[in-house]
Amino acid sequence: MNKLTEKVNSRRTFAIISHPDAGKTTITEQMLLFGGIIRNAGTVKARKSGHYATSDWMEIEKKRGISVTSSVMQFEYDNKRINILDTPGHQDFSEDTYRTLMAVDAAVMVIDSAKGVEPQTKKLFKVVKKRGIPIFTFMNKLDRDGRDPLDLTAELEDLLDIECVAMNWPIGMGKQLKGLYDLANKRVELYRHEDDSDRFLPLNEDGTLDNNIALSHDSLFESTLADIELLKEAGNNFDLDKILRGDQTPVFFGSALANFGVETFLKSFVELAPAPKEHELIDNTTIAADDDEFSGFVFKIQANMNPNHRDRIAFIRIGSGEFQKGMDVTLARTNKVIRLNNATEFMSSSRVQVSEAVAGDIIGLYDTGNFQIGDSIYAGKKKIEYPELPQFTPEIFMRVTAKNVMKQKSFHKGMTQLVQEGAVQLYRGYATDDYILGAVGQLQFEVFAFRMKNEYNSEVELTSLGGRVARWINPDQLDPKMSSSRNLLVKDREGEPLFLFENSFAERWFKDKYPDVELTSKL
Ligand code: GDP
Repeated sequence: MNKLTEKVNSRRTFAIISHPDAGKTTITEQMLLFGGIIRNAGTVKARKSGHYATSDWMEIEKKRGISVTSSVMQFEYDNKRINILDTPGHQDFSEDTYRTLMAVDAAVMVIDSAKGVEPQTKKLFKVVKKRGIPIFTFMNKLDRDGRDPLDLTAELEDLLDIECVAMNWPIGMGKQLKGLYDLANKRVELYRHEDDSDRFLPLNEDGTLDNNIALSHDSLFESTLADIELLKEAGNNFDLDKILRGDQTPVFFGSALANFGVETFLKSFVELAPAPKEHELIDNTTIAADDDEFSGFVFKIQANMNPNHRDRIAFIRIGSGEFQKGMDVTLARTNKVIRLNNATEFMSSSRVQVSEAVAGDIIGLYDTGNFQIGDSIYAGKKKIEYPELPQFTPEIFMRVTAKNVMKQKSFHKGMTQLVQEGAVQLYRGYATDDYILGAVGQLQFEVFAFRMKNEYNSEVELTSLGGRVARWINPDQLDPKMSSSRNLLVKDREGEPLFLFENSFAERWFKDKYPDVELTSKL
């Protein structure tokens, strides 16, 4: 195997999807500890709550206590190079969160075992599922009383329409938590143990524990055995092909806070999750990850909110080959040649100059306005162009006007550029030509207003239209009379008409009234 192939095969690039408070930060931190990147649990957390000295990048990020350095976390584990891409939630949720999922090879879904599948998990899951990449599930907070594990997995299968396969199973829960019955490794992992030497108990061939072990007579263990019996008879069989296609999710239990089951999970993940694979291109051909030619695509652009530093960072997922400092690449959209002198790779603790980055890795390029989201770059003579990133259905909307009517020119310039860059989505009133912005998270509007003022000297007035359900309508079926204040008719950038329904009741009402009209959504 040549060196590049070897390096590419060692990459594991993934994102963690979860609903806020399920434990994403805590589990990320445990993984970084295993990778030796941080020494103290609490580092990532402290950064999230703003108590940590963040870099001088992006004022708005500082205020929010997140930083560009935590957007991608890279560490070594088990001879693998792991890249965890952050998917911000809470008030930082934005289209970038979705787009990040376009740049990973697998996803880890963290679920609070007391709550089960929650709305944000469901949204992110939908995007991941559409990509057909593997999804690994971690049922968290086992140290607390949660729901019955059979119930949790059944709900997951029902709500998300994916097969579950149990990799391990809890023995007790909350104060009664004894350990994990580890089907995959044929052992019991004890919750409370003196030191690492007595952490695991081997299982007998028939799946039981030796009689002389006290736990084997415990009613909680017996109840776990009964569950295991049931899983063997009625559950799904482990099927790696299905897992790799995203049709089956391996389910692990544990407690991120107690650092219980996390390493077992990480080990399995690193073993089962795929290395970067070939990638489809816009012309329906594919490019192998270990192709000699360097190529990649922009999945996120982060603007500097400091007016004195107008630079931005374009996040590139390397799709093939190896990055070399100072290399010349062509930007596929414009055929412009750009020299990549200034690139950073991401570590949890600092931003450092890229030393070695191959397919699967993420590099950040300082950008003075060359890049747009979805752009492809390539180094060789042959054009390598990745498909467009999908559009996502916005959920909140604002009407936007220039505060100073005399400054229409800068208003239009700023708006055009920021929309092109993918910061927000722009719609026009169907009859009125009003400007309406759509986003999946509030942060996108804040960033938009901030940048309009600081980069284009245009103060904007934003008037909320609230949360809306966006549905595209076949133009042939459109009658402008169908529109009202409850279902605003607008057109998107391509001029395609869509309704912004006040809520799902308004949508249902519409469907009842016009049963033949076809309404569609984006991802
Ligand atoms: P995030 O919003 O998904 O990043 O969630 P965090 O990692 O910030 O966790 C949310 C809260 O749940 C914090 O108070 C954590 O300490 C707590 N938490 C996380 N994992 C566990 C766990 O395994 N057990 C318990 N009891 N609490 C946890």
